[in-house]
Amino acid sequence: MNAPNPLPRRQFASDNYAGVIPEVWEALEHARLGHAPAYGDDPWTDRASDLLREFFETDCEVYFVFNGTAANSLALAALCNSYHSVICHAQAHVETDECGAPEFFSNGTKVLLADGANGKIDPTAVENIVNRRKDIHYPKPRVLSVTQATEMGTVYQPDELAALCDTAKRHHLRLHLDGARLSNALASLGKAPADVTWRLGIDVLCFGGTKIGMPVGEAVIFFNKELAHEFEYRCKQSGQLASKMRFLSAPWIGLLESNAWLKHAQSANACAAELGKGIESIDGVSLLAPVEANACFVQMPEPVAEGLRAKGWKFYGFIANGGARFMCSWDTSLNDVNALLDDIRELTR
Ligand SMILES: *Cc1c(COP(=O)(O)O)cnc(C)c1O
Repeated sequence: MNAPNPLPRRQFASDNYAGVIPEVWEALEHARLGHAPAYGDDPWTDRASDLLREFFETDCEVYFVFNGTAANSLALAALCNSYHSVICHAQAHVETDECGAPEFFSNGTKVLLADGANGKIDPTAVENIVNRRKDIHYPKPRVLSVTQATEMGTVYQPDELAALCDTAKRHHLRLHLDGARLSNALASLGKAPADVTWRLGIDVLCFGGTKIGMPVGEAVIFFNKELAHEFEYRCKQSGQLASKMRFLSAPWIGLLESNAWLKHAQSANACAAELGKGIESIDGVSLLAPVEANACFVQMPEPVAEGLRAKGWKFYGFIANGGARFMCSWDTSLNDVNALLDDIRELTR
């Protein structure tokens, strides 16, 4: 085989630069041979769904889709009519990184933006949006979409999430959780998954598989089962119903059965914490947000950023205005972190 090579070293651009965790690969290998019914009627999909129900300690409806944009958009579409609106943080993936897919799949539902420090929605901002107008000319707020861990690498503490959920419920808003990095948030919180999701009132969760180390796949989990009505049709119509479904579902068995998610999320978080500590010790650069999961947002002079790129480092600059985002992945090592810190130290001298 004339195989292509990966990048010469691990990068901090995104946790979706990383490959596949061994437990997931093994689960895929187990599913590889033999015949099984298609479109989700197979034992791997049953097992993965049951494991997710055990994980969240509740009977929920589970769907497996290919990516997070589809998971979020289809879930939001299921919670809204076209004349409704979805409130999310101004930096939410739903708003900034989905090319209008939530509006598209919901046939026009408007996304309304709330502010809040460090990527977290301020409950008062939600109140203001809901109370701004009550008339028929305003797109009726119907959903609050919250991201955990946030796009700024912070984590809502249980009381912060509870306050937001209370605000939402008081205004009859349904609750959507974008959990593209929920594993990292759970590892950071050390709480039972149920206690920081449906027990607080989350109606639907998009649980990320890709960034924690699957090749592909996210789970859409309806804790409020009524809202899943005909969801399978949305998946099919949007091209998100996998025909060989076992290969979207089997990875969840590998992720959950051995608690692999926790081990890998803890490792990524620990690397980010180490990177954050290093950044704080260097004059001329600073953290833009507390490091609470697997991301580190850094304010650095442009020549330092340019110098890092010249040394071959890849990272995003467009997410935090003027800052640089460094994401740690399941396979990031402390050596990787120290190599990056050494280069930042050299460039700031
Ligand atoms: C990566 C990510 C997603 C999913 O993105 P896809 O590229 O569509 O899989 C969703 N929400 C957040 C916060 C993300 O970081």
